[in-house]
Amino acid sequence: MHPGLVRTAQQALSFSRQIHHPCRRSPLTCLSSAARHDIQAVAMTSTSTDFKEYLFGPWKIDSDEVFTTSQHCFAFVNLKPVVPGHVLVSPKRVVARFAELDSAEVADLWCLVQRVGSAIEPYFGAQSLTLAIQDGPCAGQTVPHVHVHILPRRAGDFERNDEVYDAIDAASKDAASAHKGEHLDLDKERSVRTPAEMAAEAAQLRTLFN
Ligand code: AMP
Repeated sequence: MHPGLVRTAQQALSFSRQIHHPCRRSPLTCLSSAARHDIQAVAMTSTSTDFKEYLFGPWKIDSDEVFTTSQHCFAFVNLKPVVPGHVLVSPKRVVARFAELDSAEVADLWCLVQRVGSAIEPYFGAQSLTLAIQDGPCAGQTVPHVHVHILPRRAGDFERNDEVYDAIDAASKDAASAHKGEHLDLDKERSVRTPAEMAAEAAQLRTLFN
């Protein structure tokens, strides 16, 4: 097993205690950004202020797991973080590939990534950030919905810095297996987090953005 993954999964656990898809454009991309957003808002159980739940590819993300939003994007906690504070930022519109975002969404996505990264880096006692997008299945993307991984990084958190990418890959595969109901290793550190653990972390992070 990946040594970096074991170590950081333990950190993530202790912190929580205190598709394959085609590379083609979705049919919704022929609509204007506003029209697509309206359609997806209805599909996503909207409220007057924001969504009650969001879609992350095929998965529903409960608003309890979302800790801040922007006009076009939302930031949410990770089912299988590889370091404490490993979170995700996605556009509200479900599109698989970065190239499918329009310019307003691109700008909004990166502004939210910057805002989230700036808040969580000190919160997790980190001194750096890894920002990563796996843009398409051949690049390791397991959820067909654009998402930026934000990982607070600390000196020595991985033996070799780039091991973080192997850890992201392994954890993403574990999350995909969990979604399919496949049995993960009996080793507890490889299990995914519970909704209650994720909601508790999101509640803590929400306080950074109010
Ligand atoms: P990637 O391999 O780049 O597509 O990354 C997928 C990411 O999504 C991984 O970090 C997974 O742990 C995470 N993930 C998968 N399903 C969920 C979910 N339902 N809620 C939160 N994070 C998830």
